[in-house]
Amino acid sequence: MTTTTDGFGSQKVRRLSSLDARRADLYGSPSVSIPPKHLMASILSHNTANEMKMAKQQLGGEISSDDIYPHVATPSSERPPTTADDFAFAFDIDGVLIRGGKPVPEAAAALKYINGENPYGVSVPYIFVTNGGGKTEEERCLDLSRQLDLEVSPGQFICGHTPMRDMAQRYNTVLVVGGEGEKCRIVAEGYGFKDVVTPGDIIKTKHDTTPFRKLTEEEYKNSRFLDLNKTRIEAIFVFADSRDWAGDQQIILDCLMTKDGNLGARSETHNEGPPLFFSHNDVVWSTSHDYTRIGMGALRASLEALYKAVTGKELSTIAFGKPQIGTYQFAMRLLQEWRKDYHDINKPPSTVYFVGDTPESDIRGTNEFNEISDATWYSILVKTGVYQTGTPSYPPKHTCNNVLDAVKHAVEREMSKKSKGGLIDDADSGIGADVAPLRN
Ligand SMILES: [Mg+2]
Repeated sequence: MTTTTDGFGSQKVRRLSSLDARRADLYGSPSVSIPPKHLMASILSHNTANEMKMAKQQLGGEISSDDIYPHVATPSSERPPTTADDFAFAFDIDGVLIRGGKPVPEAAAALKYINGENPYGVSVPYIFVTNGGGKTEEERCLDLSRQLDLEVSPGQFICGHTPMRDMAQRYNTVLVVGGEGEKCRIVAEGYGFKDVVTPGDIIKTKHDTTPFRKLTEEEYKNSRFLDLNKTRIEAIFVFADSRDWAGDQQIILDCLMTKDGNLGARSETHNEGPPLFFSHNDVVWSTSHDYTRIGMGALRASLEALYKAVTGKELSTIAFGKPQIGTYQFAMRLLQEWRKDYHDINKPPSTVYFVGDTPESDIRGTNEFNEISDATWYSILVKTGVYQTGTPSYPPKHTCNNVLDAVKHAVEREMSKKSKGGLIDDADSGIGADVAPLRN
């Protein structure tokens, strides 16, 4: 089995020749690697308060202003005297700050630390880069604001499906899979997709599509009747984790086996189906359970194996999210815009500390992006999520017990750099090592 990298940095495993040309067309140019300006413009925030207010209204106003503007001092309400302009943070969320819907114990202290509550009185700009999804960016930021007890703006936030916005210009009718209820259809329509079909629509139209899955009353009400002979699926997007693997896999397989995406026509050669995109490729993720749980990367592996078993042909799919380089390029632009708009810093950071819990996505992506980025991307692996012990498959620059130790390590490193006139030994590799002694 060979693994290659396409223009977006996606791993392509096992090629299907007829899809290659299409994908080469799609991903051959760097313009796909970095989302277009209009996308950045729509995400970046000049006015966090307004965005949060709008998001609140969109979500039915069930959140009080206290939830949005909690009692913790934030840069907007009480800006610390000094903002670090030379370095910044990017955080993964699940397994680093949140686990099983609840904050990791050290998360609040870590964010206070980088918001100025540290011995140096510096606040450090930061963004969040998660492979998770299934909700609009605004809704997820409101969740995060509540969970972490501090204000998080969509201008600081990228989730797995954020780069899929760009695809709305390319495809008209798409099948969107995963997530709760109608949420991913709403996300996709919000991204500008004009004609979004869900598995529910197909089951409602033809109930024996999935022999063992019946729609609930609510699903039936929300789903739409289709003219299957006139519906042509141009691309399939798995936006969030499937809630019904058997049914969703059956429907994805049916689409892949169509002639050019036409739901009423089967291919005889099984190499004429639409492209299949996943918002990330994490095989496992960290929840409140003692052991990791299987995620979207597992569905991807399963579908590729299933396609081979049913058709005898290899299936090639595309994943966004970390560790894909395009996601990091996007993150760097977001960080620069956030620093400029919110912190008034008009230069790129010299160092970005990426704190993550998954070696295969967070650490791998950070290390690979570090190789090509002008800035130093410094990977820090924490032990509160997927990685616990042993030798990680992709070695980080430093390993810590938790996110508080991670931010302390980074700030200490920057301060020591400063005192040494910018010179520092970068050979620090804390693989398996515990946290270096820290002040405070
Ligand atoms: Mg994680």
